[in-house]
Amino acid sequence: MQIKSFLTILLCFFGLISLAQPKNNTKPFIVVLDAGHGGKDPGKITTFGYNEKDIALDIVLRVGKQLENIDDVEVIYTRKKDVFLELRQRAAIANKADADLFISIHCNAHNPQAYGAETFVLGLHRNESNFRVAQQENEVIFMEDDYEQNYEGFDPSSPESFIGLTLLQEDYLDQSILLARTIQNNFAQKLKRRDRGVKQAGFWVLHNTYMPSVLVETGFITNKNEGDYLNSKRGKEEISKSIIDAVLDYKSSLNPEISTENLSVENSENTAQIIFKVQIAASSNKVAPKSYNFKGLSPISRTKLASVYRYFYGETTDYNKAIEFKNEAIGVGYTSAFVVAYKNNTRISLKEALKTILN
Ligand SMILES: [Zn+2]
Repeated sequence: MQIKSFLTILLCFFGLISLAQPKNNTKPFIVVLDAGHGGKDPGKITTFGYNEKDIALDIVLRVGKQLENIDDVEVIYTRKKDVFLELRQRAAIANKADADLFISIHCNAHNPQAYGAETFVLGLHRNESNFRVAQQENEVIFMEDDYEQNYEGFDPSSPESFIGLTLLQEDYLDQSILLARTIQNNFAQKLKRRDRGVKQAGFWVLHNTYMPSVLVETGFITNKNEGDYLNSKRGKEEISKSIIDAVLDYKSSLNPEISTENLSVENSENTAQIIFKVQIAASSNKVAPKSYNFKGLSPISRTKLASVYRYFYGETTDYNKAIEFKNEAIGVGYTSAFVVAYKNNTRISLKEALKTILN
């Protein structure tokens, strides 16, 4: 074996070790688990005898139990029992906890033929069927006292009512989509469930959270087969496992616990091609990349992918410097800022970038 490749393997090995070591001086990764509906609000009910509120709670408790066992993860539940909660209370619990993730669990209902899982992030619905799902999940507002005052004229049955809803979550859109896609991939690849995709619609509960947030429609309880599955112990266990795995994947992709000492191994020609930036926002709004639009941070750059603009702070070949940029961005209020990497102007995963530097 050549010495150079031996050294490479050695460095990768130390890289992996540091990946596996949790930091104990940092704030825990807080996940808020929201079991849809509850109490006087059963959610969807079917002639087969399945209750959305019960299945959602069962899945949430399973997800929470596993996540609680992980050292640097803290789990907060919006409900652990069969009780009624207003939509705005759910979002308030997540905001008060300053959570890193908000995951709302539900079951879908439609005609008996419809089946499959879909995960939503907040956005304007692109079609009637997305609107219908959001409308069903928002209608609980009508069960609340004083909903006219509390929801400032928001009307779940009016598509126009959603137009004003999109802004607050836009900073987190990228991360929400990342988590949603990972959940859906797990459902499709590991469980062979039908993947109905990652979708956008105006869910009130997602609109009011200040962190990456998704709403999982685990499947249709109006479909006999899928209802049987979701109501079974095996089904709930498998669905929970897919969600847990996705949360952990998401978590490690955002916070690679790589000790910065390893990265001071400066050198090879490869290093020059890797550029680190800090993503501070993602939005469908096009804003000039000027420091006055971004709390004084400079330089700001912008890219467009599909209909989403991404905004970045800083640009450096030095990962340590990128971490400093990230902390600076967090310091001025971009609390979900994270480091991204480019190789020859193409975005690559941070893991890949760091590996290249080590090589
Ligand atoms: Zn629901």
